[in-house]
Amino acid sequence: MKIKALALLAAMTATTAMAQTAPHERQARDIYEKVIAFRTAAGHGQMPKMTDYLVGVLKAGGVPQADIAILPLGETNAMVVRFPAAGKPSKKPILFSAHMDVVDARPEDWTRDPFRLIEENGYFFGRGTSDNKAGVTALVSTIVRLKAEGFKPKRDLVFAFIGDEETLMATTKLVAAHPWVKDAEFAINTDAGGGALDESGKPVIYLVQGAEKTYATFELTVPNPGGHSSRPRSDNAIYDLAAALARLQAYRFPVMANALTRDYLGAVGKSMPGEVGEGLRAFAANPQDQKASDYLATQPEFVGTTRTTCVATMLNAGHAENALPQKATATVNCRIFPDVKVADVQAELARVVANPAIQFKVLNDPQPSPVSEMRPDVMAAITRAIHVDYPGVPIVPYLESGGTDGKIYRIAGIPTFASSGLFTKTSDMFAHGLNERLAVPAFYKGLGHIYRVTKDLGGR
Ligand SMILES: [Zn+2]
Repeated sequence: MKIKALALLAAMTATTAMAQTAPHERQARDIYEKVIAFRTAAGHGQMPKMTDYLVGVLKAGGVPQADIAILPLGETNAMVVRFPAAGKPSKKPILFSAHMDVVDARPEDWTRDPFRLIEENGYFFGRGTSDNKAGVTALVSTIVRLKAEGFKPKRDLVFAFIGDEETLMATTKLVAAHPWVKDAEFAINTDAGGGALDESGKPVIYLVQGAEKTYATFELTVPNPGGHSSRPRSDNAIYDLAAALARLQAYRFPVMANALTRDYLGAVGKSMPGEVGEGLRAFAANPQDQKASDYLATQPEFVGTTRTTCVATMLNAGHAENALPQKATATVNCRIFPDVKVADVQAELARVVANPAIQFKVLNDPQPSPVSEMRPDVMAAITRAIHVDYPGVPIVPYLESGGTDGKIYRIAGIPTFASSGLFTKTSDMFAHGLNERLAVPAFYKGLGHIYRVTKDLGGR
């Protein structure tokens, strides 16, 4: 009995080990290790070195130099790789995208060296392990694997590697305008979309990003003549700003919904018990159900999918403890629903704070982007690919409250769907933060996902 159990265990271990050490998986792990080691945060000048390395891998894998384009921009660059159709293309190209840069990490703050791939306790640790060097690795690995198989795509496949997604997204704009890319029928972005595991590791839902909210930051300034603090006056920059912020706190932007957000909230609602599930299902059925939208407004996880949100994030006022303030400023960060204009949000904020003395300034360069209507062919390919490793898990589109450079493609007229293939537990999300990690099985399954989606869509 014991021997049999041991033999079974040995057989299982061997299967697991084999499953993770197929030749393409070993190569992908090696690529992952190499790209994590480049500190590709803005200002470190490492991007050309990383693309040199990737060009070497691609050429060794059978990609001719003529199908690789490097687009330099300042200290960084982007890379575009073409996998041409065999014969006359049946349709317009498909774009696949990942970004090579990372948010910087200070080695002294991390438990382990952030720029060394460390496999420990079932996780890969390192800056970029999840955001987005797993995606870079999956795209490079897929190209090399398809070349080795002699894959003959029916249309051009184009792979973009972006050099400044975390900062300016200027290389994404270069890529979107590149002759190989600009006529793409749609794009698959590896930098968002993904699956949720519950804390026991069971897959719950898989999300495909089809739209992003617009990120806009306003600075509200109350100017005042000021004066001596022994002689308070009826108007005061700090009190006036505080009153404005209290009005903003009490205000909610109107409820909004589209096909994508209703599908999303309805599908999540089905898998959630209690009041939250009930609220989600009621809202999906009827976004004008005020009880449901009022309830969801109290749920930080869902409020952003039901309306535009604006929230005060920073304050600055006064210049001396014994002087009346000459200025008070607040920073208000907004996540604006698709198809709502930034100027309209500013006008609404001005109306809400109800003080014409308050000056408004937009601090960033907001990039409103359209919703990408879900395509049945894309959803079907993603569903088939996900169900290989996670049978039966619901596949649902969603509106991103954060942001990626997918918006640049959408603005350029290329509908974009983000699907990383990566499943994570909420407790394992450390992108941009300390000790970023990705579960080892998630990495290998993510490779399989990108490979299957590329081959499926490229073969039609
Ligand atoms: Zn990212």
